[in-house]
Amino acid sequence: MPGFELFGDEERKEVQDVLDTGVLFRYGFDGVRNGHWKAETFETELARYLDVAHCHLCSSGTAAVSLALAACGIGAGDEVIVPPFTFVATVEGVLMAGAVPVFANIDRTLCLSPEGVAETITPRTRAVMPVHMCGAMARIDELVDVCRDNRLILIEDACQALGATFRGKPVGTFGSIGCFSFDPVKTITCGEGGAVVTNDAELYRKADSFADHGHDHIGDDRGLEGHPILGTNFRISELNAAVGLAQLRKLDRILEIQRRNKETIRSGLAPLPGVTFREIPDREGDSATFLSFFLPDGDIARKAASGLSAAGVDGCFYWYDNNWHYLRQWHHLKQMQTTAPMPAAQYDHFPDYGGVDLPDSDAIMERTISMQIKLSWTEREVSDRIEKMVQVLKMV
Ligand SMILES: *Cc1c(COP(=O)(O)O)cnc(C)c1O
Repeated sequence: MPGFELFGDEERKEVQDVLDTGVLFRYGFDGVRNGHWKAETFETELARYLDVAHCHLCSSGTAAVSLALAACGIGAGDEVIVPPFTFVATVEGVLMAGAVPVFANIDRTLCLSPEGVAETITPRTRAVMPVHMCGAMARIDELVDVCRDNRLILIEDACQALGATFRGKPVGTFGSIGCFSFDPVKTITCGEGGAVVTNDAELYRKADSFADHGHDHIGDDRGLEGHPILGTNFRISELNAAVGLAQLRKLDRILEIQRRNKETIRSGLAPLPGVTFREIPDREGDSATFLSFFLPDGDIARKAASGLSAAGVDGCFYWYDNNWHYLRQWHHLKQMQTTAPMPAAQYDHFPDYGGVDLPDSDAIMERTISMQIKLSWTEREVSDRIEKMVQVLKMV
């Protein structure tokens, strides 16, 4: 999964270019930057890679979620449908916009289920934000249909799924706007960074302005630029962008290694009668950062997870008990532990997250284990891993 496993001279060279000029800012300083525009170049190359018209880099994936919502005009009191299995940043972004996150069920793809979304829509729903979790896609074509039929904005959180495709089309490019993250544990990393991508020139213009205090970036005097909107600072620095640029150029290699390692392990586990795999709508498009599998019930899965850990099979996550990615353990959200009263919480329709009950999602998550796929494994390490996993999983 993590691109940092492949850091090398390419990243060093890109960073050195920036240090040599001393221009860490992505805008202006044309005369002294010696032709280096790392953020801009990263945007151009990422847009080309994803076959999308526009890309705006920003300071994190969390910022990308906020930017996407801002560009789409989501704000005070609007309901946004989100999955309970995600990184909490998806939910935070909605709350920070003053909007109301509403949870809908996931399905065996581990992503928002189109049926779950359909039954969660209310007159206040403005947008749906599926999250392509653990490297693979939601049933995105059906989610596109649900959004079109109900006139809802589709915003994809593809932070964990750079390089994944559905029927050849990159995830993150199915909705109005898509979000990516390049934080230290993502498929490619630049330390801290993110991006939004869109085919809509107007959304792009808004994102580009919002991320830089509303500047329109027209002309060559920053002090005289127009401010069509109020915004904030979600800018990326040239140093981060430089690392990301080198990493992006390694993405195909990263995907190839992940896919090979994952397929080998998957075939090794496939004969086990108690193990079934996460549904992936298009297996060819899986970015293969994780192998996620189901055990027959929650008790067995919990036992399997601790057995794997005891056997030294690292990188296996039992999300149901883990504090990271599943609503069940988000006690800060359930109790709305905020530093100050939140705008969204002032609405009558603001849910009591402590009381949200999603038994269909629980029934899936309590059976799920996800194993991170690494780039640095040797063939020997992969086969040892399979041997240990089979030992543990056939016992439970
Ligand atoms: C990592 C992640 C984010 C946030 O990205 P950061 O760059 O860490 O801010 C948002 N959503 C999902 C699904 C993520 O995995």
